[in-house]
Amino acid sequence: MENNLLIYNSLSRQKELFKPINPPHVGLYVCGPTVYGDAHLGHARPAITFDLVFRYLRHLDYKVRYVRNITDVGHLEHDADEGEDKIAKKARLENLEPMEVAQYYTNRYHQSMDKLNVLRPSIEPHASGHIIEQIAMIQKILDKGFAYIENGSVYFDIAKYNQTYHYGILSGRNVEEMINNTRELAGQEEKHNPVDFALWKKAEPKHIMRWPSPWCDGFPGWHMECSAMGCKYLGEQFDIHGGGMDLLFPHHESEIAQSMAANGKQPVHYWMHNNMITINGQKMGKSLGNAMSLEDFFTGNHALLERAYSPMTIRFFILQAQYRSTLDFSNEALQAAEKGYKRMMAAVATAQNLSATEGAENLGIQKIMDECYDAMNDDFNSPIAIAALFEAVRITNSVKDGNLKINGEELTLLNRLFQAFVFDIFGLLESESGGDDQLVDGLMQTIINIRKEARAKKDWATSDLIRDELAKFDIVLKDDKDGTSWSKK
Ligand code: ZN
Repeated sequence: MENNLLIYNSLSRQKELFKPINPPHVGLYVCGPTVYGDAHLGHARPAITFDLVFRYLRHLDYKVRYVRNITDVGHLEHDADEGEDKIAKKARLENLEPMEVAQYYTNRYHQSMDKLNVLRPSIEPHASGHIIEQIAMIQKILDKGFAYIENGSVYFDIAKYNQTYHYGILSGRNVEEMINNTRELAGQEEKHNPVDFALWKKAEPKHIMRWPSPWCDGFPGWHMECSAMGCKYLGEQFDIHGGGMDLLFPHHESEIAQSMAANGKQPVHYWMHNNMITINGQKMGKSLGNAMSLEDFFTGNHALLERAYSPMTIRFFILQAQYRSTLDFSNEALQAAEKGYKRMMAAVATAQNLSATEGAENLGIQKIMDECYDAMNDDFNSPIAIAALFEAVRITNSVKDGNLKINGEELTLLNRLFQAFVFDIFGLLESESGGDDQLVDGLMQTIINIRKEARAKKDWATSDLIRDELAKFDIVLKDDKDGTSWSKK
């Protein structure tokens, strides 16, 4: 299959012509969420970025097997090899089974992604469901001499690996520097070298998520799952591996090392990394008080949000930046995105009802179409394609206003352009133009005002009735000093 698609490869640090291993099949692996909390804006970016990649490859007629994992074990608090398992901790605090926590947040993740119109992957494997595959791969790495056992735990031997291969090939980091910059954490004395990482960890007696292995009862290291599951579903070598830039090191660097050590081959041809979202120029994080869940955006229930933003506004906002650029969130930027999205969808609807004028001169729709493909072929440059689409929006509105005429051939092409880019490739939805959200919000405000008046008159029966009726729709009201807000359970 011929294509002009250039992909920036983080491994070679340049744009390369996309050549799949086995066309028309394409293997795409993306690191999915660790399911111990609600999806936030930081989750939306990789999800939408690789949804765009998935959709565009399918649009080019590739048969894509898209694997996106669920991390439900092995992601430790300090993101190193130490600390309590994040899911086990949540389970302990809330007195739940770890798998209850994982299932709950997996469901919540799916709900948020569905709202964003992110397509479900072809396969969504769980780390805890692939312990056998992970143990087999660790055994292979041990057999090849690139790992050692210490007190039941298995560690990857970076020094040994570097005699044959190159740890740092993806991140450009130098092992010597890494050793000098690595802080010794308590409990890491088992490692021969501070940069070594765990493939299998021995479980402390109180550790709940544990499995038997040839070495000890324990659990896999975090990097292991993606190597094992990528290999199982896409083969020892596959086309594209994606994830956020924060995963490039040590996660993806270590994935390469594990696969090279086990199979002697570079596992991935194109490594793709989306950049991060900042909030008012700051990094996002729980400790900074600016970590907003996607539900916060959809309901507007967060101190930093002036109001609610619809899922399609969030989607459009993310698509307005090329995936390798940073993207700064602000209320202003989201409101501008919302305006742009609505303007585009209005024009898409208008175009369907325009009438053609026979013999009207050419308006350059084909050129716009070519610009959209050129932009997408240049490393998925969605903002350039969106800018070209706005030229089509301008033409559509001018035809509607009678300032331009369009011939039949171009009118067909215009509608095809919108169908392909707005719906198929960008995955924007027509029905959810934010109008419904605003209507619901307006209705809820009316109900809240009626309840407020009832309470002012000490009419508790009406106030309670309103609360109980809303509860049937899972709507909860919250009263605080700023007034009453509502949210869906
Ligand atoms: Zn991963």
